[in-house]
Amino acid sequence: KIRNNGDKEFHQAVEEVLYSLEPVLVKHPEYIEQSIIERLVEPERQIIFRVPWIDDKGNVNVNRGFRVQFNSAIGPYKGGLRFHPSVNIGIIKFLGFEQIFKNSLTGLPIGGGKGGSDFDPKGKSDREIMNFCQSFMTELSKHIGMDIDVPAGDIGVGSREIGYMFGQYKRIKNANEPGVLTGKGLTYGGSLARTEATGFGLIYFINEMLAYHGMDLKGKRTIVSGAGNVAIYAAQKAKELGANVVAMCDSNGYVLDEDGIDIDIMTQIKVVERKRIVEYVNRKQNAKYFEGQKGIWTIKCDIALPCATQNDIDIEQAKILVENGVIAIGEGANMPCTNEALNYFIENKILVAPAKAANAGGVATSALEMSQNSMRLSWTFEEVDEKLNKIMKNIFNMSKEAAKEYGHEGNYVVGANIAGFLKVADAMISQGII
Ligand code: NDP
Repeated sequence: KIRNNGDKEFHQAVEEVLYSLEPVLVKHPEYIEQSIIERLVEPERQIIFRVPWIDDKGNVNVNRGFRVQFNSAIGPYKGGLRFHPSVNIGIIKFLGFEQIFKNSLTGLPIGGGKGGSDFDPKGKSDREIMNFCQSFMTELSKHIGMDIDVPAGDIGVGSREIGYMFGQYKRIKNANEPGVLTGKGLTYGGSLARTEATGFGLIYFINEMLAYHGMDLKGKRTIVSGAGNVAIYAAQKAKELGANVVAMCDSNGYVLDEDGIDIDIMTQIKVVERKRIVEYVNRKQNAKYFEGQKGIWTIKCDIALPCATQNDIDIEQAKILVENGVIAIGEGANMPCTNEALNYFIENKILVAPAKAANAGGVATSALEMSQNSMRLSWTFEEVDEKLNKIMKNIFNMSKEAAKEYGHEGNYVVGANIAGFLKVADAMISQGII
């Protein structure tokens, strides 16, 4: 029975998971009897609201805000907020749906949710960003709380935006409740290593996967798409482990630097100055810039790390990557490969580190931030990083074992979906028909 026909990304995400679950449903008829799938694909609650805000010229603008509280079987809803003009309910639902399984895989008590707005932060002044964030939080504050729903960042939402939203939440609630948002600044309840966590976690997962297959990152020619929070720290950790990261991109184009991307220069341009990636070639000798983001996948590489956005690699790019001898794909972004591309990689025996498992380090560290907030203490960078590394190793092992048990050895896409699903399904059964 097809519902919500317009939500194409959501359908894509659901289809990928449901195919994986076939062997589980055969083995566990109780999940069918209890309509677990039907319940799982329907969000517990969807909130859509108006966000009016005033720009620097005094004009009143209106955007649309979303929060989808998808599944709270194993803990409070948890998932990021995305500010990007492409945001619509279908995108937020796909992200919220994926988040259920990802959060389950972390082994921590967090349910799945996601939110955001079609607001475009690009080119806006700090004051405009603050005005928007305050208006957005004025409505969102009615629906969240440290034991209810704990948002974080995603595309277009970093520590600046979280700071403005946290300030507004505190002002409305008259309560200092740091556990209501994660990704906060270090001076008011943030966790060390949270900024780096998704990118670092991706590389820890890949390292574990490669090791299991008798390989490592040393000397591997690596391409990272995106130049945001996930991409930069994935590139940094990959380099630390010996990979040669030669290309990165933003939504306009990509840079190729055969001497290896200089992370300090990239961070200065993209994070500190918030400029376009083309600026990199003005600061690094021998680097080249090419218009068009997709062209990045035509560069020959051993490891491909799509860390920008959904559907970055489709079947066309997948074929080029395979022809060029790619060994492994590490999904830093959410759903960066189309289902057709994923199947092509698996058929061609390419190792795939799937997003739900491989980028779970961010939300896992957000949960560690919540723990620190509850205990009113802070762990050192090394403590958090070590916990993150352990969590990523554990996620790889769970995905590996589930794939093996259900007859798909080496297919970590299927393994991660199954391992994430089982815990949520069992919790839902225990809690009755709700
Ligand atoms: P950022 O906003 O920090 O960076 C996004 C990067 O991707 C930018 O360089 C952006 O370029 C580029 N990009 C290229 N094409 C697009 C496009 N069509 N739409 C949006 N961005 C594009 O986001 P994050 O690094 O935080 O997130 C990247 C991906 O990782 C997303 O899929 C997100 O859901 C996922 N993720 C993030 C986590 C986190 O902790 N931040 C956790 C888990 C997953 P430009 O500047 O030109 O827009």
